[in-house]
Amino acid sequence: MSFFAVTPAPSTEPGIELGDHPVSQPGTAASPADGAVALQGPGATSTSSLAPSPSPATATSPIDSPSPAPAPRPPIDWPAIERQCRAILPARGVVAARQELLAYDCDGLTLHRHQPPLVVLPETTDQVAALVRLCHQQGVPFVARGSGTGLSGGAVAETPSLVIATSRMRSILDLDLANRRITVQPGVINSWVTRAVSGEGYYYAPDPSSQVVCSIGGNVAENSGGVHCLKYGVTSNHVLELEVVLPDGSVTRLGSGLAETPELDLRGVFIGSEGTLGIASCWRISPPWRPPVRRCGRSRRRGCCQPVWKSWTTSPSMPSMISLASTNTPGMQPQFC
Ligand SMILES: Cc1cc2nc3c(=O)[nH]c(=O)nc-3n(C[C@H](O)[C@H](O)[C@H](O)COP(=O)(O)OP(=O)(O)OC[C@H]3O[C@@H](n4cnc5c(N)ncnc54)[C@H](O)[C@@H]3O)c2cc1C
Repeated sequence: MSFFAVTPAPSTEPGIELGDHPVSQPGTAASPADGAVALQGPGATSTSSLAPSPSPATATSPIDSPSPAPAPRPPIDWPAIERQCRAILPARGVVAARQELLAYDCDGLTLHRHQPPLVVLPETTDQVAALVRLCHQQGVPFVARGSGTGLSGGAVAETPSLVIATSRMRSILDLDLANRRITVQPGVINSWVTRAVSGEGYYYAPDPSSQVVCSIGGNVAENSGGVHCLKYGVTSNHVLELEVVLPDGSVTRLGSGLAETPELDLRGVFIGSEGTLGIASCWRISPPWRPPVRRCGRSRRRGCCQPVWKSWTTSPSMPSMISLASTNTPGMQPQFC
């Protein structure tokens, strides 16, 4: 599930916490003295949980020892949160009416429904950052939402959370086709990218079947792909750089704009993380050149696929997409027959 609470319940257990626990907590960052995993150079005194374990006779596995129940969180004052969101966003950017919130109670997995208490529709990275900062300060969980076509319930506020929907962040910020770079906001619809560059002979290859509805933000969070994946790969093969709002509201950039770089690939970690690491607010993506449509074969006879198949398998170039069309198909494009 994609939500994360940003303020954890206090815990007496050392080490990394799992579950609906926080990514960060103001003023209580785990220090080595707390027993948290610390990255240390050779020779340093180890306080890591990877330090030598006690003898087998005395060792108790972390699985055996029951962890203390998390302290109950204080209830969230949603009317107060709504007022603070209204101070950050224009009036149209806050959805609080019960009937309007119905539109956000599920994604493509319609059996799984939870109506959120509040939805916000930011238009800029600064607004996303201000909202996430507010959540961080007030201990409010939040969920990122694109177009809500996901099939895993990731955009659903399973526990009462602020839904931050990117559907008003729909601008293509920069088109630099000389360098094969497009910079887009997260709410841009997948097929709009292809539409924006097709005049120049390019297209955006990761194309889920939901491409006329799903957003680039959701594509990045789910590392989506479609029929062109075999040749061109999925979303992670096309996103060069991300601007990300982290769970404490700070804004950072992942990736470098180059296809290959020597450092740790944090961009790759974020892509496919299903909204659990932060909210991506802007992307630089690289569209491939659209290959020409080629008619491979046409036949009225049964078994007409055989010669067509042979021509594909013996061809030196890999097709990016293969369409089979029947001459009986109404409105069939002549180049595919
Ligand atoms: C009919 C249909 C066909 C589909 N076909 C395919 C297919 O061929 N291939 C495929 O891969 N998928 C497919 N899907 C699934 C879905 O469309 C994709 O996963 C798509 O990428 C989701 O995009 P979305 O904008 O709707 O995201 P949402 O459903 O709104 O969100 C999905 C996840 O992304 C997170 N998220 C959204 N925006 C951001 C952001 N800006 N930053 C961080 N996290 C964010 C959410 O928290 C959630 O976890 C299909 C779905 C349907 C309904």
